[in-house]
Amino acid sequence: MANKDPLMITDKDEMRKWSRSMRAQGKTIGLVPTMGYLHEGHLSLIQESHKQTHLTVVSIYINPGQFSPTEDLSTYPSDLLGDIQKLKSVPGGVDVVFNPKNLYDYGNNDNGCGVGLDQEGGKVVSCVETGGMGHETWVRVERLEKDLCGKSRPVFFRGVATIVTKLFNIVEPDVAVFGKKDYQQWRIIKRMVRDLDFGIKVIGTELARDDDGLAKSSRNARLSPDDRQKQRMVKMIAKS
Ligand code: AMP
Repeated sequence: MANKDPLMITDKDEMRKWSRSMRAQGKTIGLVPTMGYLHEGHLSLIQESHKQTHLTVVSIYINPGQFSPTEDLSTYPSDLLGDIQKLKSVPGGVDVVFNPKNLYDYGNNDNGCGVGLDQEGGKVVSCVETGGMGHETWVRVERLEKDLCGKSRPVFFRGVATIVTKLFNIVEPDVAVFGKKDYQQWRIIKRMVRDLDFGIKVIGTELARDDDGLAKSSRNARLSPDDRQKQRMVKMIAKS
């Protein structure tokens, strides 16, 4: 049976106001940060949040700050209406979907902003493409971000740590839930929370896989059967 519609919030001040009013009523809040195009892997994080807190906020935000110019920001899949249907069907539902337009637009920058809308019609562009003029504060977890995925994606973990910090400051959750599927990311967030003294408990949940063994993933959902097979081979070779 579908649950009630979640409250949709797009404005960061409204988001913070909601969280503070709930906390003033003694409620605890869990945050599940996502980039949308939800699947069962994401939904398992929400169920973990339900175990930990009274209320659950799911953020859906494709973070331009973690994509380099050669990556798939403009084609990253999204389906907000489909996501909301999925969130309504997860046991217990969710309380809020936080779906901001652009968390790098501070509204007072005559230069446009480093990560924002381009001049030709609103495509969100990465800070790296525009030289990062408006937004210039980044969170780096210096040692852990260097290896593994950090080698081929030099701005990725900087972007992730920064957006997670922004979401923590806006939502002010008690608990935040991440998937260990993105193991390096999970370790980086835990280290950042420790090093910067966030009063937030970070939970890591196990990986959800599809029947053929590939991780459930917004990007993998678009692979053809042939490409899925190739991905499986690559993973097997990497493991051996
Ligand atoms: P994404 O929307 O891909 O940025 O992922 C948002 C969160 O969901 C991250 O904490 C991911 O680690 C987690 N996640 C994504 N796919 C899975 C999966 N198959 N199993 C468990 N967690 C996942």
